[in-house]
Amino acid sequence: LLSASSLEVIMDIFDKCKTFTEVKEAKESGLYPYFHSLESKQAPEVMMEGKRRIMIGSNNYLGLTSDDRVIEASVQSLKQYGSGVSGSRFLNGTLDLHVQLEQELAAFMNKEASLTFSTGFQSNLGIIAGIASRNDIIFCDRENHASIYDAIRLSYAKMVRYRHNDMQDLEKKLQEADQNKGLLIVTDGVFSMSGDIAKLPEIVRLAKKYGARVMVDDAHGFGVIGPGGRGTAAYFGLQDEVDIIMSTFSKSLASLGGFMVASSDVVEYVRHKSRPFIFSAAITPANTMSALTALRILIQEPERPKRLTDIAKYMRKQLKEQGLHIGGSEEIPIIPIYTYTPLRTLLACKILFEKGVYVNPVLPPAAPDGECIIRTSYMAT
Ligand code: PMP
Repeated sequence: LLSASSLEVIMDIFDKCKTFTEVKEAKESGLYPYFHSLESKQAPEVMMEGKRRIMIGSNNYLGLTSDDRVIEASVQSLKQYGSGVSGSRFLNGTLDLHVQLEQELAAFMNKEASLTFSTGFQSNLGIIAGIASRNDIIFCDRENHASIYDAIRLSYAKMVRYRHNDMQDLEKKLQEADQNKGLLIVTDGVFSMSGDIAKLPEIVRLAKKYGARVMVDDAHGFGVIGPGGRGTAAYFGLQDEVDIIMSTFSKSLASLGGFMVASSDVVEYVRHKSRPFIFSAAITPANTMSALTALRILIQEPERPKRLTDIAKYMRKQLKEQGLHIGGSEEIPIIPIYTYTPLRTLLACKILFEKGVYVNPVLPPAAPDGECIIRTSYMAT
């Protein structure tokens, strides 16, 4: 028998950190594209690393992060409620502001109830892991956001992936499913990288046929498409048929946090069963107030999403005329430009950055090698 002291260490969990050289190599080549720092507000023009640059890599769709009304209301709430809530919504952390925001979100989205979470990522963890368990099957579009994948893992439900926006594949997978399980189809409303719109009419039809529920992550649809910016379900007139709509405050609503809207019984269940919701502190007063103020502005100024659509169409037309290969749906302010290989993508980002334009590179594993893009995105302002 070997004594503990004579055991030879074969494997150190940190080994991978020592052999992780890609970043070092990218930095040495001058092509490293990440963690550029801003010295200004998130706006169409920003100060980034000492230079004025055009920002076409932000999700500030309605341009409200630099709106004086949002900032002022947020400062006032900071003064009234302090800098943080030091606890969970469940216990000491609920503010009347959270409740107000939930009521106004539910009313705006024509759903019975709403619940807010500390981030969009955490909303997906909280909703999916709250509602699904071992006995359930979740059908997940391959292009869904990472937080949906992680949420399904956390829920212990069985994950069945279907090909991106491929309704035949979804139907085939639904046919094969055990009908004794709870079934949920989860899709992004607007896909964050490709700018595609989910085929919700078909998804809803299949859900009815096979007894499944539907959840839409509308991080990129809320405030962007549909009547008044109500998102992808409203765009198709399917708000009543989509059971759970989730979105984030970090994009159109100019803050940090996220929410769900659904029927009262579903929201009440998640509110009392969801570990990521219960065991984490609530949104800060300032962030809650910025989201609430941004929501009220969206309601008062429905011309903002309209202008965003016009800008998206204008940019699409111009980029096409330049002969660039672009993707996504006509009215969506996410326009991926295909650069195909990682090297071309990195070079494009670097040249643009030097010319004063910030864009996001999308490289493996976020995109398959050969299908890399620069993701450009636009604001109503
Ligand atoms: N869902 C989708 C589709 C997203 O694109 C994102 C963020 N990029 C999230 C969820 C997570 O939102 P947040 O950044 O607010 O945590």
